[in-house]
Amino acid sequence: MKRFWLWLKGLFRKKSAAPAPEPAPAPAPVVTPAPVVTPAPAPEPPAPGVPHPRFRIDNLDKLSPWYRARFERGQQILNRIFADPTTRPLWLTYELAETSGKTNAEIWDMWVGGDQVSSDSEDELSVTDIKAIMYRSTFGNGVIGYTYLDSLYIWVNSRYFATEKFIASNLGHEGCGHQYGFTHTIRDYKKTVPWRINRLVEEQYDNLQLEKEFPPL
Ligand SMILES: [Zn+2]
Repeated sequence: MKRFWLWLKGLFRKKSAAPAPEPAPAPAPVVTPAPVVTPAPAPEPPAPGVPHPRFRIDNLDKLSPWYRARFERGQQILNRIFADPTTRPLWLTYELAETSGKTNAEIWDMWVGGDQVSSDSEDELSVTDIKAIMYRSTFGNGVIGYTYLDSLYIWVNSRYFATEKFIASNLGHEGCGHQYGFTHTIRDYKKTVPWRINRLVEEQYDNLQLEKEFPPL
């Protein structure tokens, strides 16, 4: 009899001790951790609002179409280079000589102002006006061209009229260099303003791969 009660008790216990069904665990949220981002250094932005020089090559109607097309291309290349945000910073790195005390930045600002030495009434401000005249030296004398400090005209020797890169470089030398009163009289002439402009234009022509943008004519 005792065994019976124990058995009955056991049944009862088992029943009451039956575990409450385990609630299904709420699915744990899948947390995607935010990736650890190391911010890339922001590229040096071009200084906003830094104005750039502009050029206008004039007097081209007096030239044959062949020369005119190449001067126009030279003007485009020069404007493209001087409008590029990388050009002024490069100019500021050059060591200069024969500057009449002007700094690189002050010279840049002179070009932006467009006030050439010439008192020619056609010298419009904010643009460097260059009037081109072709000539041909009797002999190959090594003179690429010339100008006068107070003139908007440049004389270009057709003997040395070469690639568009060279034409743009020469326009820069005469127009930005001599026409703003800068000369090259010292032995170390490569450091003078006109010659540094040659370097600036030629370096940027290569850096910016302008041969692709302006295929040679
Ligand atoms: Zn010169």
